[in-house]
Amino acid sequence: MAQITAPKGTQDILPKESGRWQKAESIIRELCAQYGFKEIRTPVFEHTEVFVRGVGETTDVVTKEMYTFEDKGGRSVTLRPEGTAGIVRSFVENGLFNEALPTKLYYMIQCFRYAKPQKGRLREFHQFGLELFGAPDPLADATIISLPYRLFKKVGLDGIHLELNSIGCRECRGKYREALISYFQKDREQLCPTCQERLMKNPMRILDCKSAICQGIAKDAPVITDYLCGDCSDHFEAVKEYLSLMNIEYHINPRIVRGLDYYNRTVFEFVSDQIGAQGTVCGGGRYDGMTEQFGGGNHSGIGFAMGMERFMLVLEQAGITLEEDCGCDLFIIPLGDRACKYAVGLTDRLLNEGAKVQYDLLRRSVKAQMKYADKIGAACTVVLGDSELDAGVATIKNMKNGEQKQIALNDLNKALLEELSK
Ligand code: ATP
Ligand code: MG
Repeated sequence: MAQITAPKGTQDILPKESGRWQKAESIIRELCAQYGFKEIRTPVFEHTEVFVRGVGETTDVVTKEMYTFEDKGGRSVTLRPEGTAGIVRSFVENGLFNEALPTKLYYMIQCFRYAKPQKGRLREFHQFGLELFGAPDPLADATIISLPYRLFKKVGLDGIHLELNSIGCRECRGKYREALISYFQKDREQLCPTCQERLMKNPMRILDCKSAICQGIAKDAPVITDYLCGDCSDHFEAVKEYLSLMNIEYHINPRIVRGLDYYNRTVFEFVSDQIGAQGTVCGGGRYDGMTEQFGGGNHSGIGFAMGMERFMLVLEQAGITLEEDCGCDLFIIPLGDRACKYAVGLTDRLLNEGAKVQYDLLRRSVKAQMKYADKIGAACTVVLGDSELDAGVATIKNMKNGEQKQIALNDLNKALLEELSK
């Protein structure tokens, strides 16, 4: 029969890589706990309306990239292309605003977008992100930005820079919109068809277009920072001041408008120049007013999403391996039936005591079992034959330094702990 392959744009995370992923995820989860962010898990699919309202009708994501289908009941559902919209839906639906404010949430999820697959761009990918509801203060913006910054520092990455912008509020953008429309109007014919359509609806989206021609035209477009109202300008200044207090370096980039429609005021990206064209590892911003879009009250929101595949790529590029925990503390090598049965009881005891223990399942020779133990990265091995059982004494071998030691079988756990601490 013909072989079946994975769908285009998807990627298996194989056992030899999943340890690195788990390590990265556990560092992230620990950091979230330090900051007081709790995990939220929402459905992989939502009513399509959630993303149309939450992400924005004129975005690339909604116009081109969604996996939308009708379920058997005739409802239009969509695989989540991002995390925020579903979380805002859940925040409102579950009345989380009645609990302690501000609400600090994080997520670690799979997302789906129908885009042209390339390095750092997949159709199924993973995002880690934060959402903070109910804190309009600029200190919240700086705090949100500080978490990925701390993460990069913690794992030893220093080639990622922070690009910062403010896209103001509706009032600032009203004036800016006029300026953009008149700027792009003169080159209207050259813009890509999507941008021609966006020109009147949402001209800021043109700044986010991936087409080289549109980017070229947008190069000298007016910048939003010249159109900020007093309040937005003060907010932006305060964010910058807090970032400086936190010793976080940033670069003001007025071209950053972000790919999703819901942002206002602060927007930011963490960008690496080490992984090719898809260098944005993490992007986010403030989205005050989005809860209202979902029929909730007006709760301010701010957050970011980090592409985990891109994060893993940057780590790899920087030669950071993320030391994995050893997968096996002890590999038991039993010889013969009696030893095999003894190994079962011994393993049972050691597993209960918390050790990572495996034994041979194929009744192979000592040599073959040793080779296997080495391949799976076992820290120690112990060979059990009739004579070891009779004497109640066996030899534990430290696979790292090759040292061997005689030990009483009853003291195996203690001896194992000693070897593991070396
Ligand atoms: P881009 O400009 O790269 O398309 P975006 O503006 O669509 O990104 P967001 O929707 O803000 O990005 O998603 C946040 C992060 O998720 C991105 O910075 C990126 O790291 C990651 N990401 C987005 N789309 C993909 C994808 N198709 N494949 C892998 N990672 C992705
Ligand atoms: Mg995109």
